[in-house]
Amino acid sequence: MNGSLGQHDTRNGRRRSSVDGIGFNPKSECSVLVIYSGGTIGMASKNGALEPKPNALGDYIRRCPFLHDEEYYKRRFGGRNESSVFVLPVTKGAQRRVIYTLEEYEPLLDSCNMNSDQWILIAENIKNSYKSYDGFVILHGTDTLAYSASALSFMFENLGKPVVLTGSQLSLFEPRSDGKDNFIESLVIAGNYPIPEVTICFGRKLLRGNRTTKMDAEGFSAFKSPNATPLATFGSLIEVKYHEIFRPTKIEEFKVHPILNSNVALLRIFPSITAQTVRAFLQSPIEGIVLQTYGSGNFPSNRLDILEAIENAIKQGIIVLNCSQCTRGSVTNDYQTGQVLSKIGVIAGGNMTPEASLTKLSYVLAKDWSIEKKKEMLQGNLRGELTVTKIDTKQIIKLMSMQKLKLDQFTASKVIIPALLFDAVDKENTDCIDQLIKNGGDLSQPNLDSRTPLHIACCKGKEKLVKFMLEKGASVHSKDRYGHTPLTDAVLNDHHEIITMLVNCGAHLLMDKELLGEKLCEAASHGDLMRLNSYKIAGGDLRQPDHSGRTALHMAMLHGHEECVRYLAQEGCDRTAKDIMGLTPEDYAARVGYQDLAALFDRNLTATDVDM
Ligand code: ASP
Repeated sequence: MNGSLGQHDTRNGRRRSSVDGIGFNPKSECSVLVIYSGGTIGMASKNGALEPKPNALGDYIRRCPFLHDEEYYKRRFGGRNESSVFVLPVTKGAQRRVIYTLEEYEPLLDSCNMNSDQWILIAENIKNSYKSYDGFVILHGTDTLAYSASALSFMFENLGKPVVLTGSQLSLFEPRSDGKDNFIESLVIAGNYPIPEVTICFGRKLLRGNRTTKMDAEGFSAFKSPNATPLATFGSLIEVKYHEIFRPTKIEEFKVHPILNSNVALLRIFPSITAQTVRAFLQSPIEGIVLQTYGSGNFPSNRLDILEAIENAIKQGIIVLNCSQCTRGSVTNDYQTGQVLSKIGVIAGGNMTPEASLTKLSYVLAKDWSIEKKKEMLQGNLRGELTVTKIDTKQIIKLMSMQKLKLDQFTASKVIIPALLFDAVDKENTDCIDQLIKNGGDLSQPNLDSRTPLHIACCKGKEKLVKFMLEKGASVHSKDRYGHTPLTDAVLNDHHEIITMLVNCGAHLLMDKELLGEKLCEAASHGDLMRLNSYKIAGGDLRQPDHSGRTALHMAMLHGHEECVRYLAQEGCDRTAKDIMGLTPEDYAARVGYQDLAALFDRNLTATDVDM
C-alpha cells in the first residue's frame, strides 16, 4: 500500500491534504500524518496573550533544519510542489526516514475550547487516512490533552498503528521551546515503532494516553502516568518497554466508534458536600457519574442522605463509577467506608485516571449494550487503562527449563523472553507462548532483523498458531529490516488461509503499485498461479502494470503459460492493455508463436476453467 501525500484543500472546516501520488519505499522510508489541532506549540503572542497562529507552523518547519531536510526533500520530490510535505532529518533511533504530511485544522484551537466534536473529527480523519500512513501524530494543546488521548483510545477499536499526541509548554517559535524534542520524538515513534496505542509523547517519555494526567502547568515534564510505567523513554537510545504495550486481541479490522454520550459528569466528594448538590448532579439527562472519592475509594459512610441519593439514582439506571482523588493507587474494598459504595451498586474504577474514567463512561454509554454489559465493560480493561503485566522471575526460570534451554544467568527480560518466544513459535508450543505472555513476553517484539514471532509463524504457514497469536495481540503491521510485514511473508509462501486472516485483521500490502506490477509479472512469467492468487487474496489488483506498463497477462502470454492466461482472463485482465512500447499481451504471444493463447479469450471462461 502506498503512503500518499499531496496538496492542501479545505473541507469540513479543516485543512487537509489530498491523497494521491507519492509512493513510499518501506525499506528506507515511513509515512506519518501530522494533525495540527492547535495548542501552545504553534501559538504566538497577540495583544499580550498567547493565541494559535494560523498558516505559520508549516513555514517555520520548512525553515528549521532540525525538523526538515530540504536537500533530501528536493532530491526525493524533484520539482513537485508538495507544500504540506516535510522530511525529518536522519536521527538516532529512527531506522527509516520519516516523511510527514502536516494537516492544519481550521480553526486552530486552544485545547480548552475543544470538546467531543473535535475528538470525533480527529478520529474520523485518522480512520480515513489509516491505510496511507504508518502512524499519526496529533499536535494538541496540553490543557485537555489527557482527555483527548483517553477518549481517542476508547473510540479506536482494534487499533494497529501508533497514534501519538504531543504539544509543548513553550511555543515552537520560541528558541527554548520543549516542542522541538516532543515533536521530533513523536514523529520517530509514529513512523518507526509499531506501538498500536494512543500515546502521549512529552518530556522525554512516551506514556499510555489513557493512563496520563497533566500534573504541571509550567514544567517540561507536564504529564505523568502515576499508575503505569512509561511505554518508552528517550535518552541517547530509545528504550521501548515492549512487554508493557497493550494490543488488541480480536481478529477484526481497525474501526472507529464515532459516538460519545455527553450526559456524564465528574463529582468530587468533599467533607461538607450537601445532599442537594449531589441530587442536582444526578438529575436527568445525566446517565453516568464518575464519583471521585477519598484514598482507596472511600466515602463518608455516615452520610446516609448522600448515599440514599446515589442509591436512588443507580436504581433509576444511572451508572456511578468510583475513582480516587489520589493520583496514585487504586480503588479497593479494604475499608468499611469503601464497601458502602459497592453495596449500593457503585462500580469500582480500579486505578483509572479521572480523564480515562469519564471518557470510558462516555464511550460505554454510547454503545448499544444492556446495562449489565455496560457495567461489565466499565470494570474490564478495554485499552490498557487498568492492568499492568508484572514479570515473575521465578516463573521465567521454570519456563526456560521447560524449553530445554540451558542458560546459566538470567540477564534481562528483553533478551531471554523474546528468545523463548521465537523458540516456542518454532516448536508451536502455544502453552508456553501463553505463559511467556503472562510473564511479560510480547509477540510483536522484534529481533535484530526486526522480525517478530508472527513473521515466523506466517512463513511457516501455521494457521492455528497465527490465529492464536493474533488473538493474543500480535501486530500485523510490524516491518522487518527488508520492509516485509507478516502479510508479505504469507504471500511469499502462498499461505492463502493465513493471508485471508491477516487481511481480516487489517493487514494490507505495503508496496508501490508498480512494484506490485513487477511481482505479478515475475509470478506470471514463471506460470506461478498460486502466487498470483496470493496477491489477489492480499488485496492486489492483478491488472496492475509494472514500471514498463507490462501486466501479468503480457508475461503469461510471452511465456506460454496457458493456465495463467485462463486465470488472468477470468480475473478481468485486459488483452489489449499496452506497455510503454505500445505492445499488447496478444502482440507478445504473436511474436513468440503462441497466437493460440489469444483464442482463450474468445471462449466464455467460467470459474471452473481454472482449478485453484
Ligand atoms: N491553553 C493551551 C492549550 O491547551 C496550553 C498548552 O497548549 O500548553 O491549548
